Amino acid sequence: MSDLEAFREGARRWLAANAGEFGREARRGLTVANDLALGRRYMAARHDAGYAGINWPTEIGGRGLSHLHKIAFDAEEMAWGMPNAYFGISLGMPIPILIHYGQDREWVKERVIKALRGEEIWCQLFSEPAGGSDLAALRTKAEPDGNGWKLTGQKVWTSWAQYSDYGVIVARSDPTVPKHKGLTYFWVDMKAPGVEVRPIKLAGGDSHVNEVFFDEVKLTDGQRMGEVGGGFGVALHTLMIERYIATDSAGFGPHLDLFVDLARDVEINEKPALEDGRIRQAIARNYALRSGLDAITARAMKMMEAGMQPGPEGSLQKLFAVRSRQKLSELAIDLQGAAGLAFDPHAFVKEDWTASWLNAPTGRIAGGSDEVLLNTIAEKILGLPQDHRPDKGVPFNQLSA
Ligand SMILES: Cc1cc2nc3c(=O)[nH]c(=O)nc-3n(C[C@H](O)[C@H](O)[C@H](O)COP(=O)(O)OP(=O)(O)OC[C@H]3O[C@@H](n4cnc5c(N)ncnc54)[C@H](O)[C@@H]3O)c2cc1C
Repeated sequence: MSDLEAFREGARRWLAANAGEFGREARRGLTVANDLALGRRYMAARHDAGYAGINWPTEIGGRGLSHLHKIAFDAEEMAWGMPNAYFGISLGMPIPILIHYGQDREWVKERVIKALRGEEIWCQLFSEPAGGSDLAALRTKAEPDGNGWKLTGQKVWTSWAQYSDYGVIVARSDPTVPKHKGLTYFWVDMKAPGVEVRPIKLAGGDSHVNEVFFDEVKLTDGQRMGEVGGGFGVALHTLMIERYIATDSAGFGPHLDLFVDLARDVEINEKPALEDGRIRQAIARNYALRSGLDAITARAMKMMEAGMQPGPEGSLQKLFAVRSRQKLSELAIDLQGAAGLAFDPHAFVKEDWTASWLNAPTGRIAGGSDEVLLNTIAEKILGLPQDHRPDKGVPFNQLSA
């Protein structure tokens, strides 16, 4: 058995042993506050067991294993419904980027351990009303203020901001140069005076995303990450850290087997739906698509094992997996008739068709919208010409609104 397989086996055993205390059944019906508290205990247990910071350097509190080990653990963990979502962004991007760019190394080390144990949470403050897909269009200002900076503006769709202790943020420090060049990257204390977080309620009933307002929030220059004017590069680095993650060809929705079970149970024209040709076709199409996506993932993993970098085919994963989950969830709801509309606010997206369908649209926007992924596929995979960019080279303060 390879070292990676042995690691995966150990992870599977540990997760199985802890599922009773932390997994889906233990969480059913909990309030968000209690679920978050359980999540913090889970993260501490995961850290104690050596499954935290798996691919991070040991000097900073990680395990020093490969990226493939991390993906293997994440893929195993996904099956159990552990309360880890609150910490996903925090450990996925802000903390790794803090490890790269944080100025006070001792302070960084302390933050890393607290984040790994779920004691502190970090959010990622990139998107704004005027800057989402086009991040460089953002307007939040960072103005020089004495020895430091003053932050004013608004972010939106910030996941878990209401539970966050700190965040990483990109702001405009120079509006007189072209949009990509006038940005600077900082970390910010989410409890500082002038920071206000307002949760947004989503269609699925939860409020994990927020609007965040900054009103002349003071930053020291020690909070700067990277060069003044180099913020866009640090932002791209942040987004690239999570480029290869544990994927799920079910689009993080229910497994196809659950659809087959449903089609066995419900009837069309007084016969099991599974006997209907259109349902059988939908199952076959979905199976073929998911198998294709699994094959792309398997190839990317093999490339990484061989020390190579997989290409932009990861864009295909998210685009097709979430779209197909949305369509299959819709069909599952239709098959159940009126019962399909019953909404359970405590249902899990991976096992409930209605919850899966309600949450699918956000999956088609977060982390790159369908259209932006299509542009990536057109340019990077198919080699088509670049999108029209009329603002290229124009100073930000000379762009029309
Ligand atoms: C659940 C959820 C969680 C999120 N969490 C975070 C977070 O923690 N931190 C954070 O910073 N952000 C977060 N986001 C924001 C997310 O990154 C943005 O929503 C996303 O980048 C799209 O930006 P936008 O919403 O401003 O839409 P826009 O960029 O305004 O896009 C609007 C529409 O135009 C299309 N479009 C845009 N540009 C092009 C183009 N060049 N060609 C063709 N079509 C185009 C888009 O596909 C979309 O349909 C989250 C979003 C969601 C839904």
